[in-house]
Parts: sequence; structure tokens; C-alpha cells
Amino acid sequence: MVRRWWMGLAACAVAGCGSGAEDASSSRERITESPRARVAELAGETATFETVAIEPFAGSPFTNDVVRLRDVPEDVKPDASGCYCFAETDARFAYAHTYVHATRALRSYNARLAEIGLAPVKDVPISLVKANAGMPTTGSLGERNGTVFVEVTTSSPVVDTGVLVHEIGHIIHRKIAGSDAGTSSIPLGITELAPNLLAALELRITRFAEYAWMDAAIDLTRELHCPDRILRDADLFQSQIDAPRFAAAFPVWVGALREELQTHPEQYQAPDEYSNSALVVGPMLATAPACGYAALQRVALEALHDVRTSGTMGALSQRLVAHARTECPAGADALEERLRARGVL
Ligand SMILES: [Zn+2]
Repeated sequence: MVRRWWMGLAACAVAGCGSGAEDASSSRERITESPRARVAELAGETATFETVAIEPFAGSPFTNDVVRLRDVPEDVKPDASGCYCFAETDARFAYAHTYVHATRALRSYNARLAEIGLAPVKDVPISLVKANAGMPTTGSLGERNGTVFVEVTTSSPVVDTGVLVHEIGHIIHRKIAGSDAGTSSIPLGITELAPNLLAALELRITRFAEYAWMDAAIDLTRELHCPDRILRDADLFQSQIDAPRFAAAFPVWVGALREELQTHPEQYQAPDEYSNSALVVGPMLATAPACGYAALQRVALEALHDVRTSGTMGALSQRLVAHARTECPAGADALEERLRARGVL
């Protein structure tokens, strides 16, 4: 989906790090050693860096059966020890970091899809585009020659994994919805709710936006009630303009938002689908302690598969509760209660 340029995107943090298995097997004919890379784990407002084993490539660099990074520069090469160990200020850092996090998210969701009898998502092309300084990481879906690809635009080599996994969520949603989900502009629909829900359950975030968006983040777990607390696009933008650290980190973006709100205020009065997705995402995250994330990922995929592209928040919520009764009987009542409290059931 081509997004309006000014729209905020969910950014989030990563919980836990699967470092992958290091294959130390050796034989006289060939020695197989997994490549390694220095990547970032993003949590809250901080990034920690570590060197992890990464999945061996299949064919081209940074390509396996689920992820295909496009247009990787020639100088993104490992050092003598086989490690893509770049400083986080080096543009080359972005490639292995993106490969690791995209692969991790797709492996996780493909495991859940297999558990519910749906086909896996394969061969997701991802393009990294350099953004101008002063702009946060943003993402979109592009299409070329009939192939849909993820495009992440970033001024920092530490690509925000929340944006990355949100866009991958669009790809998963399109696949299980069986059509072009992602182009809808239905207010309070599920077009942006779906990727926010999938990203939140994968990254185990408790806030709508954490790493790059810092104090402009919207807390997913706060109580939102329909209809008086529905947030408009203008509310979301104002929260970013008013957030001191966010405004300091991304002055170009915030300046553009301020100008847009002043010159075209009438264009930003619609309910904001990103932040209002919290009406459903919040209750699902709150149910995780009772159900576990894997069960709720299945619940989300099954419900999204049920409602396809025509779903409203209410229809999706009904299906979430219905599948929770099977997948997690212990948490279903509480999920239903939380969704009712927010007015979406
Ligand atoms: Zn989106």
C-alpha cells in the first residue's frame, strides 16, 4: 500500500532474541559455518547490540526462502571471520539487522499458520531506502511487475523493527485475506489494525510505538472508550508535535506535520486507524499472560482469515473472542470483557 507520506507508523520494540543455532559441523569436503552479524535489539527507548548467528543465505546474500533483501550494495560483505559486524552508524548495518528481524518474524508467523492449516508466507522482498536526516523510520508496500514488496525508509541504519514487522504484517494479512487488503480506507477498519496486531503479538510490545517514536508513543494499554475517545489523525500528529524528545529527534517530520495541521486541518479529522487499533490490540496484549503469545497469534490469524477484507473492528473482535474460546478458554471471557469495555463489541 502506498501510504500518505505524513502518516505515523507503528514502531515498536523487540522482546527476546533468538540467536539461532550455530552449526559447528565440519567435514573434510566442506566446512559449514553459519554467518554472523551484529544486530540491534530494540526495547523501549533503547537499543542493545549483539552478534548473533544468522540463517545461511540461499542463493543471493540476505536471501532465504522467506526473505529477500533487494539491491544489497556490493560492499556489504563479512569480515575475515565471517561476521557482518558493522557499527550502528554505518549504513551497511541495516542489511543484516533487517534480514535477522524479518526472518524471525516470518518464521514465527509461518509456524502459527502451519498450526491452523494455512499456507506459509514465502519470498517477501524488502527494500531499504535512505531517508533524509530528521525523518523517522517509515514503511510502505510497493508493487512492481505484480510483485508486492516491503519498503522501509530510514535515516538510521538501526531500522525500527516495529515498522519493519508492521509492514510484514500487511503482507501476512494480504495473504490470509486472499486479496488486496491494505488498500482500504474504511474508517476504523482493520487495514492498519491487522498489521499492528500481528506486530504487537510478535514483538510483545505494550506500547503502540516505542523505539524511534519515544515519548510520542501512544500507550496501547490505556483505557480507550468509543466513541468519545476515538482519536483523529490530528490528535496523533499533535501528540508527536508536543512530544519534546520526538520533536528534537525528527525536526523535519514534526515541522511538516505542524504545517499540514495549520494549512489543511480539515483533512485530518478522520478517526486515526493506527492509534484506534489500540481498542483491539490493547485487549489482546492484556490477555497474553493468560493465553501466551503463540495462542493469541493463532487467534489473530484465524479471525483475520474469517473476516477477510470486509471486516470491521466489531466483526473482527467477535471472531477473536470465538477463536479464543477454542485456543485459550482460560482467557476468552476476559478478552470479551476488555473488548466490550472499549466499545468494539
Ligand atoms: Zn500499515
